[in-house]
Amino acid sequence: MLSGGRALYGDPTGQVPLEMPATLGPWTAEPVRFCMNDQCAASFLESQLPEGAAECPVCGSELGSVSVGEKRLLPANTPIFRRVYRRDGHPDVMATFVFSGMERQSIHKPQRCLVAQGNRITDEYTHRAACDRDGGTLPVRVLEIARPVRDSAGQVVSTDANVYVYWLFNPERETVHHWSRLWRTVWDNAIRSYRPRWGYASITIPRDLNSPDGWKNELDDFLPRLYPVVKKLRADLDARRNRVLRLGARSWENNVYEGTNAALSSVSAPAPAAAPAQD
Ligand SMILES: [Zn+2]
Repeated sequence: MLSGGRALYGDPTGQVPLEMPATLGPWTAEPVRFCMNDQCAASFLESQLPEGAAECPVCGSELGSVSVGEKRLLPANTPIFRRVYRRDGHPDVMATFVFSGMERQSIHKPQRCLVAQGNRITDEYTHRAACDRDGGTLPVRVLEIARPVRDSAGQVVSTDANVYVYWLFNPERETVHHWSRLWRTVWDNAIRSYRPRWGYASITIPRDLNSPDGWKNELDDFLPRLYPVVKKLRADLDARRNRVLRLGARSWENNVYEGTNAALSSVSAPAPAAAPAQD
C-alpha cells in the first residue's frame, strides 16, 4: 500500500507541534534520563545529576533520553517528548508522547515495552478518567505494573509499583485500542490517502500498595491539566492536513523527522543529561 508515486495527506513526517509545558498548574516539569544498562535501568531527574552528566551514577553506564526498552524497540527518528511533573506532597508523574511517522513500529503495544523493562503487568482495564473540570471524561487504558528493585548484589529489596495510563490519538480520533489505530491507519491510508501522525500519550504514576486506588486522585488532578495540551496539539496537527508527502518508490526514505523542537528526544541522538524517578 506504500508503493511508489503516491501523494499522502496529513503531514506524517512533519514537525510535531508540541512543547512539553514547563508547568501544569502546580506541577513543575523536569527532564528525565535513563541508564542504558538493562541490568541497572535506573532513571534520574536532570536536577539530581551533576550538570552535563553522561554516565549513570549507580553503574557508570551511558545515560540516554529514552529507556533501554524503548531504545531497543523504537525506530530511529521516533519523536518522543517526555517530562516528569513534580508537586510537593504528591508522587512524581511522568508524561510521555510518542509519535508515529511513516513506519508503524514507533507506536507499539506498551505491554511489550514495559515487560522489556522488567515489569510484570498485574492488571489491565479501561478506565474513564476526568479530562476537564466540568465532568468530562476520557477513556484511558490502565496497566498496573510492578518491577522488582534489586540491590548491587542482585537481591530483590523492594517492588516498584506504578500505574501506566495511555491512549492513542490522531487529529480525528482518540482510542485506547491498538487494533483500532491500525485499522484506521490502513483505511485512511488506502482509501483517503490520509496519513496523519498518530500520537501515543502515556502517564506513569507511582502506586502505593497501601492505597491501591490513590493514583486515581492524582490522575484526576493531572489529566485535566494535560488534556488541553493534547487538544491543542490535535488541532495543530489537523491544521497541517493538506500538506502533501510525495512518496518515492521506497517509502522508508520518507521516514525522517525534520522537527527542531527542543523538547524532542530522539532515539538516534540522545539529548544531554540527571536520582531515581519512576520509569
Ligand atoms: Zn546504571
